[in-house]
Amino acid sequence: MSKSNLNKIVIQKGDITQLSVDAIVNAANNSLLGGGGVDGAIHMAAGPELVEECKALNGCKTGEAKMTGGYRLKARHVIHTVGPIYSGSPDDPKTLARCYQNCLQIAQTNDIKTIAFPAISCGVYGYPLSDACKIAVETTLEMLSQCPIIEQVIFMLFSDDTYSIYINYINTMKQ
Ligand code: ADP
Repeated sequence: MSKSNLNKIVIQKGDITQLSVDAIVNAANNSLLGGGGVDGAIHMAAGPELVEECKALNGCKTGEAKMTGGYRLKARHVIHTVGPIYSGSPDDPKTLARCYQNCLQIAQTNDIKTIAFPAISCGVYGYPLSDACKIAVETTLEMLSQCPIIEQVIFMLFSDDTYSIYINYINTMKQ
């Protein structure tokens, strides 16, 4: 895997709803009509216009992604993706990787230069953190070599343990 785009990856700790980027990614569910965790926080911050736009999208399959406006968020867009519910099956890593691929593909085709991801599937969907971190970073690095529009990818981590797993992983890659 090429590490040449590592300098485009930023690891931060905090609330993704507060970021001024072109797009934030929502770890949504198949209905796209809101839920708990980061999904609830994004809908709360974006305001009721977001769910109105989402209603017209007819949901989203697991591993796929769909884009909406950002409404009252500082981010111009929200890219909604649905991560796998962790089961230990060999499909889990492939499906989680497809979430990152599809979000970054949408970014590339919509002139999105800065994008922020939460730790997809790492909350109620139960994905083991270090496995999910590796998939997130490696898939993003692979995609960045095909997505020259994208200048910065922020991984916005909410919890101390998720943040330290990402920081440690990136630091070992930089060695
Ligand atoms: P999933 O259903 O995909 O597991 P969750 O929302 O339950 O989604 O959790 C995904 C990750 O998002 C978890 O690591 C959780 O700590 C984190 N998270 C929750 N709220 C926020 C927020 N406001 N900003 C960034 N990350 C958040």
